[in-house]
Amino acid sequence: MSSDNKFDVVIIGGGPGGYVAAIRCAQLGLKTACVDEFTGKDNKASLGGTCLNVGCIPSKALLESSHHYEQLNHGLENHGIKVTGVKIDVPTMIKNKDDIVSRLTGGISGLFKANKVTSFHGRGKLLAGKQVEVTNSSNEILTLSAESVILATGSRPIDIPSAPVDNINIVDSTGALNFDKTPKKLGVIGAGVIGLELGSVWNRLGSDVTLLEAQDTFLPAADTKIAAEAKRQFKKQGLDIKMSARVTKATSKGKKVTVDYEDASGEHSIELDKLIVSVGRSPNTDNLFAPESPIELDERGFIEVDEIWQTSQPSVYAIGDLIRGPMLAHKASEEGVAVAEVIYGEEPEINYDVIPGVIYTNPEIAWVGETEQHLKSAGEKIKVGTFPFAASGRAQALGDTTGMVKIISSEETDQILGVHIIGPQASELIAEAVLAMEYSASSEDLALTVHAHPTLSEALHEAALAVDNRALHIPNR
Ligand code: FAD
Ligand code: NAD
Repeated sequence: MSSDNKFDVVIIGGGPGGYVAAIRCAQLGLKTACVDEFTGKDNKASLGGTCLNVGCIPSKALLESSHHYEQLNHGLENHGIKVTGVKIDVPTMIKNKDDIVSRLTGGISGLFKANKVTSFHGRGKLLAGKQVEVTNSSNEILTLSAESVILATGSRPIDIPSAPVDNINIVDSTGALNFDKTPKKLGVIGAGVIGLELGSVWNRLGSDVTLLEAQDTFLPAADTKIAAEAKRQFKKQGLDIKMSARVTKATSKGKKVTVDYEDASGEHSIELDKLIVSVGRSPNTDNLFAPESPIELDERGFIEVDEIWQTSQPSVYAIGDLIRGPMLAHKASEEGVAVAEVIYGEEPEINYDVIPGVIYTNPEIAWVGETEQHLKSAGEKIKVGTFPFAASGRAQALGDTTGMVKIISSEETDQILGVHIIGPQASELIAEAVLAMEYSASSEDLALTVHAHPTLSEALHEAALAVDNRALHIPNR
């Protein structure tokens, strides 16, 4: 094998787990290659994985565009701004999203060059002896060898037999990022993060949106109070969320799709223009390693790793959506950095207790740490402080007063155990809570921290004060 194909580290997968691992390995002086098979709309290699190509970034681009549209239509009257004749040009909106994606994915190629990461476009497979076979789109095969291999191939949408994706009328999240016009009637199977975000995009642009959710609890991972407020707001916006709904059959015919489902009120059939299937994602492990490989999967198909992200095969690591934990880009990239440092010989740690979650709907929902219901069921003694954005001067000025900040701390030590926000800029506000929890702060610490006035972050300050019934701008209990 030529020395060109021998590396210290080969990474399979160029998403936020893999590309970040590659950059960090190269920064540490390791000879690094990254193999990624994603092909962009221009039929060329496009680094960045699900996140940059068909996930976080394009969905947020469409959420932003549709938010502007909705604000111009309905959000500015109170400011005395009257706008008429607002039109949405869907192909231009999609092109803007695609341009953002190509700028950012091109940016990763640039970073690879700057850091001297060797990039291979093709499908990677781990063979015996830490060799990695790369098959390109012309079926040409190249074999690389490595001291260490990082598996970072991410995840893909789960299919359900009752609603097979045809990419015409029945689509997954990728198809839902690429409609050429606003569907009049849109169905979404699964009222989880993707269903709510992408359902919101098209609802804002004029679709009648029905979400069919199998479970009877809405957003079970969120704090109950926040989930209830979210459901109320989404209903007000016109999202028709049907709980305990079981889709029995979705049939695509011509330009329509008929969905049969059952819920507590009986059997129903609805006719839609498009149907999005967003019922979760599963790890990409198919044909990733030879069947005789010692790498083990857990019962849900995730690769088993130890505390240093090492699989059951020595010097082979796995990170991101391929392994346990929340399927989030920032979790994948933290693991990317950490595993690079492990390979270099360091002992990095990730504090999995303080990984924030954000849903980029309007209102935004963000949280970190434990929920009240979980702490109570575990028998923890807690204190809770909440502060509504309606009492925030800045939120009033914004004309966006929905929601609240809720802080939960230990009754005994006052250490913050969870922070839950629904409302304007929740995605940005949560960073303060993450930092506070990373440093094991108490609600007293947050209460003692000076917050600029008038800002939305004052709501965090007031919620911290409310933990001990001393909020200043709301009556205390
Ligand atoms: P991925 O990003 O999936 O990257 C894996 C890469 O490996 C891909 O390029 C894939 O093509 C490639 N690959 C797979 N198999 C092979 C192989 N055998 N050989 C070579 N290459 C291979 N998370 C957030 O934190 N915030 C958000 O706002 C957010 N929004 C999302 C919106 C949508 C619509 C979706 C679908 C996901 C969203 N996510 C979000 C989740 C986030 O995208 C993932 O958690 C994250 O991308 C996982 O990173 P990863 O590196 O593990 O894998
Ligand atoms: P999800 O787990 O958030 O939601 C899936 C929903 O579908 C759940 O509520 C589930 O009960 C429901 N469901 C499952 N099977 C069903 C069925 N047969 N019929 C009806 N409902 C069914 O998954 P998702 O929305 O597909 O997103 C996948 C992953 O991507 C998530 O883990 C999430 O972390 C990540 N993501 C994150 C963000 C973000 O951070 N803002 C955005 C999008 C996606």
